[in-house]
Amino acid sequence: MRLCTFLDAGTPRVGRVEGDQVIPLAAPDLVTLIRGGDAGEAGPPVPLNRVSLTAPLRPVKLLGVVRNYALHAAEMREEAPADPQLFSKLVTAVTGPDGPVVHPDVTDQLDYEGELAVVIGRTAKDVDEADALDHVFGYTIVDDVSARDLQATERQWARAKGCDTFAPMGPWVVTADEIPDPHGLRIRTWVNGELRQDGSTGDMLHSVAKLISWFSRAVTREPGDVIATGTPAGVGKGFDPPRFLRPGDTVRIAIDAIGAIEHAVV
Ligand code: MG
Repeated sequence: MRLCTFLDAGTPRVGRVEGDQVIPLAAPDLVTLIRGGDAGEAGPPVPLNRVSLTAPLRPVKLLGVVRNYALHAAEMREEAPADPQLFSKLVTAVTGPDGPVVHPDVTDQLDYEGELAVVIGRTAKDVDEADALDHVFGYTIVDDVSARDLQATERQWARAKGCDTFAPMGPWVVTADEIPDPHGLRIRTWVNGELRQDGSTGDMLHSVAKLISWFSRAVTREPGDVIATGTPAGVGKGFDPPRFLRPGDTVRIAIDAIGAIEHAVV
């Protein structure tokens, strides 16, 4: 099942995407539905190409993972952490699948990171790795937009990863039953039509199950939490010379079995 949030005369509504149609659902937002809210149909289908999609949910917590692909760690000229390293990304950074991402004046090194994002469906505390995937509601796509200069100079990444619009998300959440193994998915990112990232989620150093289990030892995972699971190689900083984003650029991220998001930089 594909679950989206769309604007109906300016009001966000939850919908189930079937083919080229969206069927409105009763729950007021996707986090409420994940918590067991009303998933009943609540109106006639609407053509998908006539609705404006927002981010499928406003995450309860939004976490990123530092250098979870070996080739990305190498291009950043850093070690890959032996244990997962997670950071908080401000939920106010979340924006729709088509952005746009606003290039703030505070950075000269705006960069993209195409990532598989995991949406938690059940409360998870001290979860064993073997049971961790049972706590996943579904999967979506996030661009973990980053300001590399701030990331290098500031110990906390509230700005480097959390500026407004630094988390385009969507286009929908695909429920976990459709993706029993989140590690067999091709993930690609294009900038202005040029393929920059072409990886597989099978190359993650720390699996989705490990990330959920490891973090749940310290922090309760709640329904509606989102973990952006790290990015494969091919970010702008990895090029010599680096190729950072400028206003006018377009970023497209596609992941097998989910779909694609595409946003401009303005
Ligand atoms: Mg990232």
